[in-house]
Amino acid sequence: MYASIAIFLSEYMKASALEQLSPSSIECETGAYHTFCPISCVSWLYQKIGGSFFIVVGTKTCGYFLQNALGVMIFSEPRYAMAELEEMDISAQLSDYAELRRLCVQVHADRNPTIIILIGTCTTEIVKMDLEGIAPRLSRELDVPIVVARANGLDYAFTMGEDQVLMSLLTICPDRAKSSITSGANVVLFGSVPDFTAGQLEMELRRQSVTVSGWLPSTRCADLPVLNKDTFVCGVNPFLSRTATTLVRRRGCHLISAPFPIGADGTRAWIEQICAVFGIVPEGLDAREQEAWDSVDDYLSIVHDKSIFFMGDNLLEVSLARFVTRCGMIVQEVGVPYLDRHYQAAELALLRRTCEHMGRSLPRLVEKPDNYSQIQRIRELRPDLVITGMALANALEARGIATKWSAEFTFAQIHGFANTRSLLELVTRPLRRPGQTHIDVDLGFVHKRSLDAAQQAVKHKVAPEHSNKINKL
Ligand code: SF4
Repeated sequence: MYASIAIFLSEYMKASALEQLSPSSIECETGAYHTFCPISCVSWLYQKIGGSFFIVVGTKTCGYFLQNALGVMIFSEPRYAMAELEEMDISAQLSDYAELRRLCVQVHADRNPTIIILIGTCTTEIVKMDLEGIAPRLSRELDVPIVVARANGLDYAFTMGEDQVLMSLLTICPDRAKSSITSGANVVLFGSVPDFTAGQLEMELRRQSVTVSGWLPSTRCADLPVLNKDTFVCGVNPFLSRTATTLVRRRGCHLISAPFPIGADGTRAWIEQICAVFGIVPEGLDAREQEAWDSVDDYLSIVHDKSIFFMGDNLLEVSLARFVTRCGMIVQEVGVPYLDRHYQAAELALLRRTCEHMGRSLPRLVEKPDNYSQIQRIRELRPDLVITGMALANALEARGIATKWSAEFTFAQIHGFANTRSLLELVTRPLRRPGQTHIDVDLGFVHKRSLDAAQQAVKHKVAPEHSNKINKL
């Protein structure tokens, strides 16, 4: 049944991506977005950028958010600090430069970081704090790179915090190589993935004679890639559209527009597109992809013909919708808080091709969805699974709707052929819960959970599956 699941992607790049899925076919509602604050990017980037130190310039609210919601204070105290703004700072009675200088000098002396990243917050935006003016001056004085990332809660999605940090790192990337430029096909990849996953993606490209000449971010600041008009760059995450734009506009890099290496099908398409740019005919991809699908045969039988609804939270939605469609699921709606139609053009095209290949109709694509309207649609459509933010997950669970936190896809390893299983592990977990029987009870639109489970969820106001995680937080 799943033997034919591989091998159909090579032709799709020939057509213009934007022709395949025109912007007019994407609906736009005007809903408020409910998402984690982007300053949460500190929690994964401090691990990725070795020797870095993050100073979040904000209020107590920001500190509580980071400390309580993510628990980063426990694990990252040596690599993260809050610069808490008080009345005197906000009313401009103190010098921003002098206050930040005092903190940076202390951090520099105590931790000796290779880079200091100042994270702006809502408050620094509102009081118009000139972080970009202060950072270069401090950087010269302390002789350590200090950059600014405005990763505040005014953004569309919490994942865009990473976008802002990568943009800030761009300012300190060299624009010319110290040694002579390596010949052959070279590409710089941008997007934060665990080192192990990065190694796997590099290995896949190396098999096709493509060398990864650098990563943004890199594990060591000294290894930041050379970026200039001769550099080919390609993203691995769909929420990095500003970084992509900046790479093209400020450094003149060649952006390879490709689907993202999420799931076996996306990874294959990503490799194919990079190879196509360098005129390389990829080899062995059929077998690599088939191998990945074969390893998840048990999960595919669980998700086959199950319906799924993405409410929209972390900008991974289009890639995930494409992947689960390929796995045989029926995608009812793809909500996405913000959609850069150019940066995601190849992914949108692949979604359309995947739907055609699997004999599914193109799902409704809704940018900036209105949650109230979505709830009405969920009541009508009765999806088997809803991928949603934490704000709505428990409310849906209490009404018997199986959910999965979209944030979990951000923190899990989902890139590359080898992680196809861990991606499906996340998707199938709510569907594998015991007691997933279809019942009709008078709880609004309850239909997929046993009465016991629904009542438990109402009683504890939390999905049983999520209770452990909440306890840990
Ligand atoms: S940056 Fe804004 S949204 Fe984020 S925690 Fe601080 S005040 Fe809240």
